[in-house]
Amino acid sequence: MSEKQLSRRDVLNTLLYGVPTIMAVAGGLDTALNRLLPAPESSKTTSQIIEEIKNKYGIDVSQPEKLTNGETNTPWNTSELLIIQEALGEVPPITLTNPHFPKQLHLYKSASQVGVNGFLNGTGYANSNIDIILTTAFNGTLENTGTEKVVFGTQKKLLKSILLHETTHSLTESNIELLKTWESSNGWVQNPDGAWANYYPEQIIPLANSNLYPWEDMAVSLSVFAENPSYLLKLSKSRYDFFINNPVFQNWNKVISYKKKACYYIK
Ligand SMILES: [Zn+2]
Repeated sequence: MSEKQLSRRDVLNTLLYGVPTIMAVAGGLDTALNRLLPAPESSKTTSQIIEEIKNKYGIDVSQPEKLTNGETNTPWNTSELLIIQEALGEVPPITLTNPHFPKQLHLYKSASQVGVNGFLNGTGYANSNIDIILTTAFNGTLENTGTEKVVFGTQKKLLKSILLHETTHSLTESNIELLKTWESSNGWVQNPDGAWANYYPEQIIPLANSNLYPWEDMAVSLSVFAENPSYLLKLSKSRYDFFINNPVFQNWNKVISYKKKACYYIK
């Protein structure tokens, strides 16, 4: 009997009745516990995941019948929806509780259009709604060698970064002071004509107009802090330190875990 043949029922019996099977011992208690809790992700249906997101975050996830070009919308699969759920688990608590936090998440997938890296233009945040448009090329790997690949590496991380980015717009909309602190901490000045300029453009990660607007810079930086912190630290210590030190992010799981890492202090 291979270790794989140990069923969840076997593990449950082992834990409940204290009669370790040979396989549970061989696999170790950690393995046994991992098999028992939580339920395997693959066992969830898409509607269960959507319901869990609604219950935990108050977001209505919907998949409209048609794309804007009239094409029939292709439903997202379980693993794609689980990425959304995982990303929401990485959003800072201060963002989750802001009054502009998105109430609607519209998910689209095109089977006929060619996008970039599995995404179509049109993804974004407006009026407390987030739209995300995938293509059927969303299959795990980033085929283009652009900044997205350098910074995020995989489509999964890129999709998570979109959730983190767009929800950050809701945070800065409802907390102008936080955005002002970001601007003064990271070299932003506004010219008399209204255009923004930055003293240290080489420290800006060039994604989503981040070189033009401080709120895009902050949204991009927060998503990179979450998904590839060492990249952000290397490029811009002031941006990394902003999240580490600003009190509003002190209970963010990312900040807590990075602070525990001694390497941050050895610089
Ligand atoms: Zn943006």
